[in-house]
Amino acid sequence: MKSALLYGHNDLRVEERPDPKAGEGQAVIRIHASGVCPSDIRSYTAATAAKRDPWTPGHEIAGVVTELGSGDTGDLQVGDRVAVDWRGVCGRCHQCVRGAANFCENLVKYPIAGFADATVMPVAQLTRLADGVSFEAASFAEPLACVVNAHRALPLPLAENVLVVGAGPIGLLHTQVARARGGRVIVTDMKADRLKAARELGAHDVAEVANQREAVLDLTDGRGADIVIVTVGIPAVIEAAFGLVAKNGAVNLFAGTHPKGAIALNPDVPHYDQVAINGSHDFIPNDFATALRLLRFGQVDVAPLISHRFPLAAVAEAFETTRQQRGLKSLVVAEGEK
Ligand SMILES: [Zn+2]
Ligand SMILES: [Zn+2]
Repeated sequence: MKSALLYGHNDLRVEERPDPKAGEGQAVIRIHASGVCPSDIRSYTAATAAKRDPWTPGHEIAGVVTELGSGDTGDLQVGDRVAVDWRGVCGRCHQCVRGAANFCENLVKYPIAGFADATVMPVAQLTRLADGVSFEAASFAEPLACVVNAHRALPLPLAENVLVVGAGPIGLLHTQVARARGGRVIVTDMKADRLKAARELGAHDVAEVANQREAVLDLTDGRGADIVIVTVGIPAVIEAAFGLVAKNGAVNLFAGTHPKGAIALNPDVPHYDQVAINGSHDFIPNDFATALRLLRFGQVDVAPLISHRFPLAAVAEAFETTRQQRGLKSLVVAEGEK
C-alpha cells in the first residue's frame, strides 16, 4: 500500500509500505477520508521533526473494515463503514471513573497513521457509521468530539448569547453546536469569506474582528456575550475575549498557544464580574458518539467546511494548503465512495 511518511521539517513523502495485517482483536481499515489537522501541520513544520524516525501522521479518519483479526472482534464485520478514535482510554483509572476520560491516566495514543491507503486498529476504537453519514463527514468526528467536550461544560440556557471568536473549521463546528443547543450565535473573524460561511451554517450575526467589541456590545444590549468561545490560540485574541463577555458569563479557551504564550488578565473580571474561565481539551468516548449523532441527524453539517480534496499522492499539497490557511478544511480522500 501507499503511505505518507514525515521525514523531517516540511518533508512529507508518499512511499510503498507493507500492507497492514490484523492481529488479535484488530481490524484493518481501508481509509476513505483523512482530515488535515492543525496539529499535523505543527508536526510537519516543527524544527524538531527530523529528530525522530519517519512516521505517518493523520488521526481524523473514516473508512471500511477489510480484514478482522482473531479473537474477540465484537459484532464488527468486514465491509462495515467506521470512524476511528485514536484515544485508547482504560475506563478504570481515577479520571475515567470520574467521567474525565480525556485525562485517562493509562491513555494509549494509537498512531492511526491516517495518511495512507489503510491502517490497523483495535476494534474497540471503531464506531460503525449510520447510513447517510459519509466517510468525509465521519472524518470530522474527532475534532467535533473536542467541540462537544467543550460544550458539555458550558451552561447555555435557551437563546443566550454565544460569541464564537474565529470562523475556521473549529469555529464553524462550535457555531453549529451552539446553534443546535438553542444559543443566539455571534461569530467574529478577520476573513469575510469565513464570516459568510458562518452565516450559512447558522450564525445569527457576524462581525469583523476589527470592530468586534462595538459589534458585540451593540448586539447584546451593551452586556457582552454570556459565553465566549475562543478558537484562536493568539494571546492578544484571548485577552480581547475578556472584554466581550457579560457579567456572570463564561470564557472557553479552546485553542492552545503555539509557541506558548501568556496573557494579561485583569483579575477583577473573573472576580467582580463573576466570569468563569473554562478550558477544554480532547474528548471522552461519549463525545465521539455524540459527534457522530450530530452528523447523522444533520445538526452539524460539515460539507461546507471541506474546501479542498486531495488524493494521497498529493498529501504534501494538502499540508501546504492547510499551513497557508487556504480555504477551510483539506481532506485526503480515496477514489470511490465519499
Ligand atoms: Zn485533529
Ligand atoms: Zn483511564
